Amino acid sequence: MSSIEYESRGRFGYIHYYKDDKKLKLEWEMNGGDLTVCEILLLPLNLKEWREPKGVKISKDEQYRIVKDLNRLLITNGIKSDLSVILEKERKIEFEERACIWAGCNQNRIKGMVYCIEHYSDGLLVK
Ligand SMILES: [Zn+2]
Repeated sequence: MSSIEYESRGRFGYIHYYKDDKKLKLEWEMNGGDLTVCEILLLPLNLKEWREPKGVKISKDEQYRIVKDLNRLLITNGIKSDLSVILEKERKIEFEERACIWAGCNQNRIKGMVYCIEHYSDGLLVK
């Protein structure tokens, strides 16, 4: 089970993400552009390690699962973020009937690319 908690300190704040007994604290800033499109700026996400248990590393695969889960929770909670804007754009990308070349990955690759969306969109995450 996972959930989020929204904390506002005015122009910035935090999204607290809870997954089982683990926690993340993600900082956001208010969007300076069109608030009807996106209210808060979360990217790039630093999902390299848990805040609790402190310092425990998060695998790349787990990070992508968190990205999707976080997006789902943000939408469910009516929070408009840049993450959702980017993922919505990616949803419209065309794919090929060939697998991504990432070791062990068998998702379809993006048309004209060698990687699937998860392995291509590293820009979502802090490296
Ligand atoms: Zn892949």
